[in-house]
Amino acid sequence: MHLQDILYSQGFGTRRVCAGLIQQGFVTVNGAQVTEAGMDIPVSEGLPFSVQGTAWEYHEKAYVLLNKPAGTECSQKPSTWPSIYTLLPSPLRLRPNKGAVQGVQAIGRLDQDTTGLLLLTDDGQFIHRMGSPKHHVPKVYEATVKHPLDDAQVQKLLDGVVLDDDPKPVRAAACEAVGPLHLRLTLTEGKYHQVKRMVAAVGNRVEGLHRSRIGSLELPDSLAPGQWRWLGADEVETLR
Ligand code: URA
Repeated sequence: MHLQDILYSQGFGTRRVCAGLIQQGFVTVNGAQVTEAGMDIPVSEGLPFSVQGTAWEYHEKAYVLLNKPAGTECSQKPSTWPSIYTLLPSPLRLRPNKGAVQGVQAIGRLDQDTTGLLLLTDDGQFIHRMGSPKHHVPKVYEATVKHPLDDAQVQKLLDGVVLDDDPKPVRAAACEAVGPLHLRLTLTEGKYHQVKRMVAAVGNRVEGLHRSRIGSLELPDSLAPGQWRWLGADEVETLR
């Protein structure tokens, strides 16, 4: 693949801009400077390159994990709080798709005040599959609640509660009180404000919410709020 096409595909600007960056000596591939925009480079997943000192990796499709901080909205056009997309470097936001700038998109949404594990990708089929009601990847939430938990509340969450928009009960796939005010629950669907509404339905109230796991993917301790990292191909595979 021509180097300028590689840069273009990874969100570094139009082909013309990318050619200019290469010709001006701002690009390295595998650690070596390349100044010929049309140089044919054998691309492979994870190929390391840099643009103006920013280290990057080639990925045909981008799959990333973000530790969402509180006070951010999962929307491109946020109403009140800063968008999570402002936390991502511009190539992730500017990756092209069929000639148009599309960038990565969040797979599902977390509320403004919810923190933790959020996945983003520019793979439309993957977003579609993960969002399908038939796809039951378990998601683990840590909720801090207002009133001390009792066994009856935990049991009701496991048995199923009815929310106001659907007569069919929703239940937690797993649920335990890991402290007097700390509930850990696993959901396999993603209705609007589901954790908060389920906890309210059993007479308690969520005061803090954090997503710690999606499928076998755990939020790494090393990733501070607001930081992101690439997902490995093996990690993506486990979610399919
Ligand atoms: N359930 C909620 O209530 N809020 C979230 O952000 C995620 C799940």
